[in-house]
Amino acid sequence: MSRVLALLVALAAPWTPLLRAAAARPEHAPCAALALSPAPAPTGRPALQDAPICKKCQSTGRLPCAAHPRSDCLLEDEVLFCSVVADCTACAGAAWVPCTDCDNAPARARIEEKKASVATRRVALEYIDQTMKRPIRKAESKHFVLVWEMDRLKVDKKWLESHELLHLYLKRLEALYDDYCARMQITDKEFAEKFRVFVWQFPQDHHDAGLRFCRQSAKGGVKLMGQTPSYSVCGNKQNFQDDERLHRNIVHSVTHLILSAQRPVAWIGNIKAGWLDEGLAHFFEDRYWDVCDTYCYQEANTNVDFKGGRFRLAVRRMVEEGKFPPTAEVFQQNVDTLTLPMHATAFSYVEFLLNRDAERFNQLVKKLKAKVATRDALREIYGWSVFDFEAQWKSWVLSTYPTK
Ligand SMILES: [Zn+2]
Ligand SMILES: [Zn+2]
Ligand SMILES: [Zn+2]
Ligand SMILES: [Zn+2]
Repeated sequence: MSRVLALLVALAAPWTPLLRAAAARPEHAPCAALALSPAPAPTGRPALQDAPICKKCQSTGRLPCAAHPRSDCLLEDEVLFCSVVADCTACAGAAWVPCTDCDNAPARARIEEKKASVATRRVALEYIDQTMKRPIRKAESKHFVLVWEMDRLKVDKKWLESHELLHLYLKRLEALYDDYCARMQITDKEFAEKFRVFVWQFPQDHHDAGLRFCRQSAKGGVKLMGQTPSYSVCGNKQNFQDDERLHRNIVHSVTHLILSAQRPVAWIGNIKAGWLDEGLAHFFEDRYWDVCDTYCYQEANTNVDFKGGRFRLAVRRMVEEGKFPPTAEVFQQNVDTLTLPMHATAFSYVEFLLNRDAERFNQLVKKLKAKVATRDALREIYGWSVFDFEAQWKSWVLSTYPTK
């Protein structure tokens, strides 16, 4: 922003809509003269100072559909489809209607576009209702389809109802996806399909959905890795103490899905690369909470815990005392044979390698998916023997991990 414009913004609060118009059109010199001699509208749109301000819609050209609370309508802007509003006859699932007091063609077009998207997605997602034999609460965003059948939950000391939770969790999933891509330095090109996440209130629904959408059933969460990546979990109080626990479980589990779906599509957890599969899932738990307490292959409700989930502290202590699991052994395990100390160590390996550089980490992922043994992949990509790796990793742990 030029100094003149910045000064005007600071001094002239009542003129700010005008100044914003000037700022939005950098091709016009931002000067006070703009206020006196308006330039002709560049794209057929009336210059802002000439446009009639519609009080009814604040000149947005749209109004929230009267059938829903305004706060609900705002939520809909972030999704392609939401079953909670999809069947509304007044807005056809767009959640907004054109303002009747002004004519705003772009706003009208956006509403029509949303209606069309809702109509298409409704048909595409019908199989979920048919499979569960009843209407299911669900929404779809750019990278996820989320089924949310949970009741209210307390989030940050505030009770949220199921519709808000549906949108909140979809937003959290998109945030995880973005963060995953940023950390791994990859883009949408690495993925072919959307991810499906099912969160149920009742164990019976989770059981049925597990079998039907993930081809397996268990009391804890179940995943379909690779193609049609899907996760089903029963999110009620019997399984998750609170919103944070449930959120963390979903972050961990969906990280597994994303890794398996990343090209080339393959699950590495059962081909002796359990360390990277679990390590990366713990990496994202730790990233947001500094705690890792999700264990996919343990019975639910057994309260598995390793050092209170403080993996960095635990790993540092193991390294200091020389009591860490032998690296060559960790590199041989599948996800279901990793011991708890191995989980913590695997997390640390992933953090060490990914912090070092994402490009080689991705090469490693590709090699492991091609069933190359970790020890051979490390040599090819990093030029390290297992012994070299262990020495580098240990010294990194001792120089970066906390002592308390
Ligand atoms: Zn209006
Ligand atoms: Zn909604
Ligand atoms: Zn409506
Ligand atoms: Zn896991």
